[in-house]
Amino acid sequence: MYDPKAETMSRAEIADLQLAKLKHIVNYAYENVKMYRDKFDAIGLKPEHIKTLKDIEKIPYTTKDDLRENYPFGLFAVPMKKIIRLHASSGTTGKPIVGGYTRRDLDNWATCIARVLSMAGATDEDIIQVSFGYGLFTGGFGLHYGIEKLGATVVPVSSGNTDRQLMLMKDFGVTALVATPSYAMYLAEKAKQTGIIDDLKLRMTIMGAEASTKEMHDALRNIWGVFPTENYGLTEVGGPGVSGECREKCGMHINEDFFYPEIVNIEQNKVLSEGEYGEMLLTTLDKEGMPILRYRTKDITALDYSPCKCGRTTARMARIIGRTDDMMIIRGVNVFPSQIEGVIMSVPELGNNYEIIVDRVNYMDTIEVRVEVGDGALLTNYANLENLVEKTRAKLKSVVQLDVKVKLVEPFSIKRGEGKVKRVTDKRKIFDIKE
Ligand code: ADP
Ligand code: ZN
Repeated sequence: MYDPKAETMSRAEIADLQLAKLKHIVNYAYENVKMYRDKFDAIGLKPEHIKTLKDIEKIPYTTKDDLRENYPFGLFAVPMKKIIRLHASSGTTGKPIVGGYTRRDLDNWATCIARVLSMAGATDEDIIQVSFGYGLFTGGFGLHYGIEKLGATVVPVSSGNTDRQLMLMKDFGVTALVATPSYAMYLAEKAKQTGIIDDLKLRMTIMGAEASTKEMHDALRNIWGVFPTENYGLTEVGGPGVSGECREKCGMHINEDFFYPEIVNIEQNKVLSEGEYGEMLLTTLDKEGMPILRYRTKDITALDYSPCKCGRTTARMARIIGRTDDMMIIRGVNVFPSQIEGVIMSVPELGNNYEIIVDRVNYMDTIEVRVEVGDGALLTNYANLENLVEKTRAKLKSVVQLDVKVKLVEPFSIKRGEGKVKRVTDKRKIFDIKE
């Protein structure tokens, strides 16, 4: 454990610390960030009204639009000369989300990542290859400084050039790989194809930055033959390091002295109880550069406050089952890509790469899953092929309650990416998801 004192406090100690930090950060945000002051003033809320942790519910949510409207530096709470690093989200839709970090923020960030790495089983003896992109994306630099803080050896290879990645893994004796699950899978396929997999010293894969299912982790474990864990974070609250899985793999431990999590039902404007699934809100408890109160992450998960077998007492968040804006509504039925991935990964004859195409034909929504078969020879036997399509369709129907068209394609025929994967193409040109 990297920080036993912080990671094994009693629940009462955690709550006391969180309350003290919450009071401070609310006051700090109110005093230093105009948006918060305006939002508080509009409803007559004063920082001193926050007397208990539950009082956080009085504070309005912060949304992605709030961050966009204050682009680029409007939410910074310190003068620019105190900001020593900027990061930004990929910003595929509109302006990117920008984060500013003071020296103290960077140090805390590295601590959070060092804890997450240690949860995954890494030590200062490990040689860790970072295949996340370096640049504005928080993933590369975030993991980088955490690895250094842990005292392990960092190989900052960044994303891309799969053959070179594998060569370095072999030559440097890399013991841990940091990557998105989809890229970790691509690397594994290549490593297996070329036989290089037998020459590696890999002990673990440390995954983050995109959603993955338990079935995907099982498949990764099978193909690499090493233990996978995942971790979670987002640019808006600083990047990765919000939480990470320990080797018990029963949820991601939240760094609760730095982040205060809540699960809410947005439509009912209600904070949910332990174990209930809903959208997660995050409040940064210790950020100087850009404090964030009750940020709507759009990520759907649930919390578990019971102590973990690993000895940590910090709350655990369940694997993200989807994002509210990833949810596809097909003929009125809500479908998350993760449900489809779960089915695909559980059919042994299918490969690990797939895409989902949603369309509207004659006013009727259609959904098609194109999935690679594990072995190309399968495609040459019509009867086997039909059986496999039927089996997959039946499984999908039982999980998503919809007729899904299944199309089997050659191994390696679907394009692979090097960072975050985009699996869904929605060709319907209407927006039926309420914000
Ligand atoms: P961008 O992709 O726009 O650059 P971020 O890197 O900040 O932005 O992406 C953060 C989002 O990535 C999270 O809100 C979440 O949806 C997703 N994400 C990150 N880690 C995980 C994880 N372990 N499981 C599922 N989703 C994750
Ligand atoms: Zn644990």
